Amino acid sequence: MLTMENEARERPGRRITALAGGIGGARFLRGLLACLRLDEPDAEVTVIGNTGDDITLFGLRVCPDLDTVMYTLGGGIDEQQGWGRSQESFAVKEELAAYGAQPQWFGLGDRDIATHVLRTQWLTEGVPLSEVTRRLCERWKPGVRLIPMSDDRVETHVLIEEPPPAGRRSIHFQEWWVRLHAQVPAIEITAVGAADAKPAPGVTESILEADVVLLPPSNPIVSIGTILAIPGIRAALASTGAPVVGVSPIIGGAPVRGMADACLTVRGIETSAAAVGALYGPSLIDGWLVDSADAAAVVEGVTVLSRPLFMTDVDATAAIARAALALADELRPTQ
Ligand code: GDP
Ligand code: CA
Repeated sequence: MLTMENEARERPGRRITALAGGIGGARFLRGLLACLRLDEPDAEVTVIGNTGDDITLFGLRVCPDLDTVMYTLGGGIDEQQGWGRSQESFAVKEELAAYGAQPQWFGLGDRDIATHVLRTQWLTEGVPLSEVTRRLCERWKPGVRLIPMSDDRVETHVLIEEPPPAGRRSIHFQEWWVRLHAQVPAIEITAVGAADAKPAPGVTESILEADVVLLPPSNPIVSIGTILAIPGIRAALASTGAPVVGVSPIIGGAPVRGMADACLTVRGIETSAAAVGALYGPSLIDGWLVDSADAAAVVEGVTVLSRPLFMTDVDATAAIARAALALADELRPTQ
C-alpha cells in the first residue's frame, strides 16, 4: 500500500493537450481543470488556441479566442455573455461612435481594451504572439499553458454574396459572425495565411509528447478546423501516440449556442454529432463523446460514447471532461 502511494506521488503528472476556440473551448477547459483539481492535481494542461478570429480594430490587435480562454480560466470573464471582461464599461466605444468611427458592431469594452493595447504594443516591438500571450497570462494565471496555434498572422475570411451594390465580396470572419450573425449564406470560409504559417513554439511538441489529447466542443470549422489548417498540426495529431478524444459541439442536430451550423453547411457537412465525428475521423480521433440524444451516432473507426453534454455549470462540465479522460484511458491506457 505504502509503495503504491509512493509510486503515485513520484509519477509525474499527465500531460494533457487540448485544442480550443473561444466560448465552447474555454467552458470545457474550466470543467477539465475542476475535474483535474480533484482527480489528478499534478496534471499539466497545454491549450493550443485558435487565432483565426483575430482582427485589428482601431489599430489594436484583438485575439478573441485566446482572450476568452484566458479570461474564463483566470476568473475575468463576463459570465452572462461568455466573452469579454466582467464588470465592463464601454466609454471608449461610445467616444469612438461619437466620432463616427467604424466599425461599431464589435463590442470592445474599456477593460478589455487594456489587454489589446498592451498586446499591440508588444507585437509592435517585435515580441511574438506566443510570448505576448504568456505575458498576459502572468496576470490571469489560467492554470494552463496557453499557446496560440501560430505566431504568424492567420485570419479567417468569408466569401459572401449580397444584393447589389455590395455583391460578392470577402469579409473578415468577425464581420460575418458578429455584424451579419452568419445570416448571409457563406460561399467559402478561408483561413488566409494558414498555408504559410508555422505552428508556434511548443505546439507540435505538446501534441506529440502528450499523454492525452482532447478536442473540446469548439466550432469544428472555424475554431478546431482553423488550428488544423496550420501545416504540421494536423500531422502531429494524426501521428501522436496519445489517445485523442473529441467532445461533440453538436447536440441533437443543433449547435447548443452560436451558429456553427452555418459553418458546417458551407462545407457541405450535416449538422450532426456523427457528421462532425466523421469530419475528424479515425485519422485524427480515437474516441468521440456525443450527447445522450445522439446515442445512435456511429463514426467508422472511432469509439463513440454517449452521455449528457450540456455544459450547464462547472460541475456538469467537469463530469464531461472526466468522461472524456476515462474514454481516453479505455482506448489507450497511459503508461
Ligand atoms: P467560439 O470561438 O466562441 O465560437 O467558441 P468555440 O468555437 O470554442 O465553441 C463554440 C461551440 O461550442 C458552438 O459551436 C457550440 O456548438 C458549442 N457549445 C456551446 N455550448 C455547449 C454545450 O453546453 N455543450 C456542447 N457539447 N457544446 C457546446
Ligand atoms: Ca472564435
